[in-house]
Amino acid sequence: MRVRLFTGLACAALACCAAVPQPRLTLHLTVVMLEGSGWTRERADVAVREAATILAQCGVTLERVDLLAIAVPPDLMDFSTPAARELSRVHPVARPAVYLVRDTRSRPAFDAEAVGRGNSRTRPEIADTVWMTAAARDPGIALAHELAHVLMDSGEHSEAAGNLMRGETSARNTSLSARQCARLRDTGSANGLLK
Ligand SMILES: [Zn+2]
Repeated sequence: MRVRLFTGLACAALACCAAVPQPRLTLHLTVVMLEGSGWTRERADVAVREAATILAQCGVTLERVDLLAIAVPPDLMDFSTPAARELSRVHPVARPAVYLVRDTRSRPAFDAEAVGRGNSRTRPEIADTVWMTAAARDPGIALAHELAHVLMDSGEHSEAAGNLMRGETSARNTSLSARQCARLRDTGSANGLLK
C-alpha cells in the first residue's frame, strides 16, 4: 500500500512538471571581489557554479557572470550600509550583484546578507545585491540562499526539511518548493533581474 502511494505521488509529480513546461529564464550576475578580502577567484567560481546548479531547479540559467576584482581603501573592505553605499557609488555595476567582502560591521553579524527592494527603501543605492564575507560557510549554498532572497524580494524563511530557505545554511538544504520557484521567477522577472 505504501509502495503504491509512493508510486502514485511520483507519477503525479512527473505529470505536473511535464504538463507545465517552464520557459527558461536567464540570470546575468555581477560578482565584485574585493582584493585582500580573503576571497580568491577559484573560491568565487566554485560558489557561483554551485549556486547556479541550485537555482537551475527553478528553470533559471546563469547565462553570464562578470567577475571584477577591485582594490578598495580599508574602510570599504567590510560590509556596512554606509560602506556598501560608497562602494556602489565609486564602482557602479549591473545588478543583481554579489559583493565578496572581508567581514561585516553589521550587528548581529551575518556571514551573508541580501538587500532586495523591500529592505532597501532607505538605501535604494544597494538594492538587488548580496554581500558575503570571507568567513561564509558553504559559500555556494549561502550564495544561492541570498540570491533567492533578492530574486523573490522576500526575507521569508522556510521550516521545511532540506529547503534552501531554512534559516541555517547547510549542505543538506538545497531544495526550493514549486511556490518558492514561482515567486522567484515572477518577482525576479518583474524586477528586471531575470530575462
Ligand atoms: Zn535568509
